[in-house]
Amino acid sequence: MRAALLHGPGDLRVERIAEPEGEVLVTVQAATACATDVKCLRHGHPILGPYPARFGHETAGLREDTGERVLVGDSVACGSCLQCGAGRTQLCERMRWVLGGFAERIAAPAAALHAIPDDLPAAGAAMAEPLAAAVHAVARAGDAAVAGTDVAVLGGGTMGLMLVRLLELQGCEVTLANRHEERRAQARSFGARAVGQLDAARHELVMEAVGRPEAWRAAIAAARPGATVVLVGGCPSGSDVTLATGPLHYAELDVRGAFHHTPAEVDRALALLAAGAVDWHALAGETIALDELAEALARPTAGEARKLVVDPRR
Ligand SMILES: [Zn+2]
Ligand SMILES: [Zn+2]
Repeated sequence: MRAALLHGPGDLRVERIAEPEGEVLVTVQAATACATDVKCLRHGHPILGPYPARFGHETAGLREDTGERVLVGDSVACGSCLQCGAGRTQLCERMRWVLGGFAERIAAPAAALHAIPDDLPAAGAAMAEPLAAAVHAVARAGDAAVAGTDVAVLGGGTMGLMLVRLLELQGCEVTLANRHEERRAQARSFGARAVGQLDAARHELVMEAVGRPEAWRAAIAAARPGATVVLVGGCPSGSDVTLATGPLHYAELDVRGAFHHTPAEVDRALALLAAGAVDWHALAGETIALDELAEALARPTAGEARKLVVDPRR
């Protein structure tokens, strides 16, 4: 079968490989791409296996044993470590990552599979993976994300847009900040106010979805005293301790990280997508074949935020 393999940073090849072996074989119908995949291609990633490595972690398809349509969750927690015992399975110390959606087939443990609601197409179902992370991030905001709250979302990628939609569903007053007008227009179509830059010390809740220290700094600057800041974007190059010495102390900000999601959040995401409460069409970009993946991931990100959909059957 054909699969996209990373042989090293910048080196993606679509090759014929042996059929995968594992608990359940899934024929991939759609695998969507995100900034993590771009990171995997350009720089490598700690969750990738040894090179040549399979990748693609937003995957929907058909179970070969039962014919059931499933979302392949990208991870299975061990269930027995300290974090799992405390109910924080998203922080499992022995997480098994299930990667390889950019291929004709993927083998996955049954525990990673989620049934797809009937009317939700594969490309929409694959987006339940990142949407579950957005559901988790909003849950991390807790009481700070109640109806009427003045919330800022920093970053207008597909994660930022998903956060906007979920916060709107909770009745928050959402402002999205992004430098590019196409992204601002997209945020408005998701129901948010949109600006190029956030006002200082204004928002009761700030959710950052960029993943760079400058964005963390901007998120903290936009928070009013007593506010909550949730950092959703993963940063490839470590932390910035100077952030803690200023506003974090004097403005008593409650800064929370949000990483990954739980299996229950994946099912919540599937239900939101199936009900149309989050419109996955508005987040879907072009559908491409496996052979077009390297070129498409290497393209500079400009224009609207949309997820590439890989259909390995093409
Ligand atoms: Zn992703
Ligand atoms: Zn665990």
